[in-house]
This record gives sequence, C-alpha cells and structure tokens, in this order.
Amino acid sequence: MPTSYQSPMRRDKPADGSKSQSVTVQEQNPTVANLLAVKGGSVFSIKPNETLGRAVEELRDRHVGALVVTDDTGALAGILSERDIVRKLADTPGQTLPQRVGDVMTQNVITCGPSEPLVSVLKRMTDGRFRHMPVVENETLIGMVTIGDVINHRLTQLEHEALHLKQLITG
Ligand code: AMP
Repeated sequence: MPTSYQSPMRRDKPADGSKSQSVTVQEQNPTVANLLAVKGGSVFSIKPNETLGRAVEELRDRHVGALVVTDDTGALAGILSERDIVRKLADTPGQTLPQRVGDVMTQNVITCGPSEPLVSVLKRMTDGRFRHMPVVENETLIGMVTIGDVINHRLTQLEHEALHLKQLITG
C-alpha cells in the first residue's frame, strides 16, 4: 500500500455540515460503504441481448464508463466497459454496434463488498488493470465504485485536513 494513501488519523468534526465535509468523520480506514454514503447506490445496467449500439447510448446518457450486465433475474452476468467497445471497434470495423452485449462483455466480474477498505479496492483495481468495481451485498448489487471515485474521496479528505489545519493555525 503506498504510504500516500494511508488513511488520516484525524477524527475532528468538519467545520460545516455540507455533504462533502462529512466524509472525514471517523474515517480512519474508509470503506466502500463510506464512499457509497456520499456517492449513492446507483448502478446502471444493460441486458446481454441488447446491442452495443444501445450500450454506447446508455454510456453517453448516464455519463459512465461501464455498465453492469444483468440477466432476467437481475443477477450479475458480466460487465461491459467503454474499453471493450473500443477493442471491438478495432477488431470489427463497421460491424460493431449491432453485436450483442453478451458476446463482448467480461463474464468473470470481480466485485467488492461494502465493508471492504477503499485502499484494498484500489489495489485490486490497479493490479487487475480495470477501473470499475460493482458492489455486492447478499448477492444484490448495491453500487458501483470506480478508481476515480476512490481517488476523489481521498482528495476530499486531504482537502478537509488541510482546511482544518489552516483553521487551527489562524485561530
Ligand atoms: P475498465 O478499465 O474498467 O474500463 O475495464 C477494462 C477491462 O476490464 C474491460 O475488459 C472490462 O470489461 C474489464 N472490467 C472492468 N471492470 C471489471 C471488474 N470489476 N471485473 C472484471 N473485469 C472488469
């Protein structure tokens, strides 16, 4: 674990009650649940029988880089990221958008649970070279964490620590 990602020891209450300020409270070792409490639990999904054309529209409209693929029971069947579509565009130029999501998605999805520390999720995503991690609890999808979310969460914590230190110095 890089030392720059060590969780802060500070437990002080934030100066105001804003949503972003609240992330510093008692987050010595922030977890996926801490992040989802700020981000929310939206998960954007698509069915295996839908086309890549439909998937790119969904990626555009939802402003996300990946969709989870769920079967008719709602169970996780795969994940489709913009990277999968770019690769397919290179492999099958001019014939990509009509293809089925289920034929292009990654089937073996790596997931995390809400109690997992963010630093562990970040390491697994970095080591596995992917940027999206669906969050599953009791076999139910409860959110999606991205590398960007984790870094943003940490940066926000650092900003709050710096602000607090500044307030201590200036009185
Ligand atoms: P990404 O960096 O997330 O855009 O994805 C890079 C590659 O990893 C793509 O082939 C994705 O389908 C795959 N991928 C993304 N997230 C996961 C995940 N949580 N588990 C397994 N594969 C993934």
